[in-house]
Amino acid sequence: MDYDVDVLVAGGGLAGLSTALTAARNGLSVLVAERGEYSGSKNVSGGRMYVHSLKKLLGEQFSDEYLELPVYKDTYDIYNGDRKLSFSFEQKNKKNSYTILRSKFDRYLAGIVEESGGTISYSTMVNDISREEDIVNVHTDRGDIKTPLLIEADGVGANISRLNGRKLAPKYHMLGVKEIIDKKPDHAEAETRTILGLTDSIKGGGFVYENRDTTSIGFTLKIESIQDDTNTRTTPDLIEEFREKLGIEGKVLEYSAHLIPYYGYDNLPPVNYDNILVAGDSAGFLINDGFTIRGMDLAIESGMIAGNAAKSIIDSKDYGNTQIYKKMLDESFIMNDLSVARPMFNLLNQDNIFKKYPGFITDFLSSMMDITGDNRKKPRDVMFEKAHENDMSVASLLRDAAKVI
Ligand SMILES: Cc1cc2nc3c(=O)[nH]c(=O)nc-3n(C[C@H](O)[C@H](O)[C@H](O)COP(=O)(O)OP(=O)(O)OC[C@H]3O[C@@H](n4cnc5c(N)ncnc54)[C@H](O)[C@@H]3O)c2cc1C
Repeated sequence: MDYDVDVLVAGGGLAGLSTALTAARNGLSVLVAERGEYSGSKNVSGGRMYVHSLKKLLGEQFSDEYLELPVYKDTYDIYNGDRKLSFSFEQKNKKNSYTILRSKFDRYLAGIVEESGGTISYSTMVNDISREEDIVNVHTDRGDIKTPLLIEADGVGANISRLNGRKLAPKYHMLGVKEIIDKKPDHAEAETRTILGLTDSIKGGGFVYENRDTTSIGFTLKIESIQDDTNTRTTPDLIEEFREKLGIEGKVLEYSAHLIPYYGYDNLPPVNYDNILVAGDSAGFLINDGFTIRGMDLAIESGMIAGNAAKSIIDSKDYGNTQIYKKMLDESFIMNDLSVARPMFNLLNQDNIFKKYPGFITDFLSSMMDITGDNRKKPRDVMFEKAHENDMSVASLLRDAAKVI
């Protein structure tokens, strides 16, 4: 049966653009349908990108001109009232991750896609699909497009997967809230900060990332904690409070809020259907292992894999047989790293992390560092005492420590 393009990509974010670039370089005709006025106009990231997949995608074309600053320092701040534990890890000239502003970067990547022969149709929303023999008819608000292979890269909302019967459960999502502040760092490499204990009853963690001319701040929250009736503050209220507690001053240039997939390896949704491959956030590809939060490198890598799988599927003319994509993903670092992060995912899903650990850790350190003239206790006894005062058992502490390693 006749069709309009070899590959139609729904969504022109990192996953969609990486798919389109790879498919175009593989000699396929490719069209990206992006609902925004330009790539990057609808995308939100904290954002720090680990650039290994981007380097693979762009090869010699890789340049850090459209990225912000290379990250040289990671700081963790754990707050509990007027106490704070901070620790940092510093390594200059590492350049394996950069801060990023998506509205700038995605536009640049879209330009490379177009130079390489891909077509991008902006302000084009994919609304529905229907099937005709072995072809998918994709219904957009600008008309119908027939394709043997549809790549779903429409982000966390996973519109196309939902048309295929997938349900989105709140427990598998977090809310990310972000502001860009008019505050220029005074150094040429970036510090990123991960913050725990500053969002009160809300379960989540915060971040501060330095860009070339601005600073990004924000936090990620568990949906169920903002559904809690006792919490009446809106997310703009929360981020204002957060900014004030951090003491960061400057004009707010941009505010955005966006869902983040939080499935974990054991609950990942299907990544392929007949004639359809699912990439990036729409496939639930996000890792938070307590040390790093990553979705962008997974989006780029899964897009590249989708573009290469597309070549095999189109060449075979067996468009319903999309299993090769699943196989290629299984062999990639994406599935490996999601699997390795599984125990941390389970740990970070516990309330302890947000509610009890900041209290326990700062109480313990406060006792160890305070000299009152009373008889000094052994560190082990102080640990037991503070665990008990924070409603934690030593057995649960040991179990959690085992999960981290
Ligand atoms: C606050 C926050 C902080 C984050 N921090 C980090 C970080 O520091 N590091 C990191 O690696 N990751 C981070 N992430 C995750 C990262 O942003 C995502 O994993 C990544 O953007 C996924 O890329 P994607 O292309 O799959 O989806 P998206 O970037 O969401 O792109 C989807 C695209 O599809 C388009 N679209 C949606 N529906 C349709 C439709 N029906 N028709 C046509 N187009 C459609 C959208 O407009 C959008 O352009 C963060 C996320 C948030 C929200």
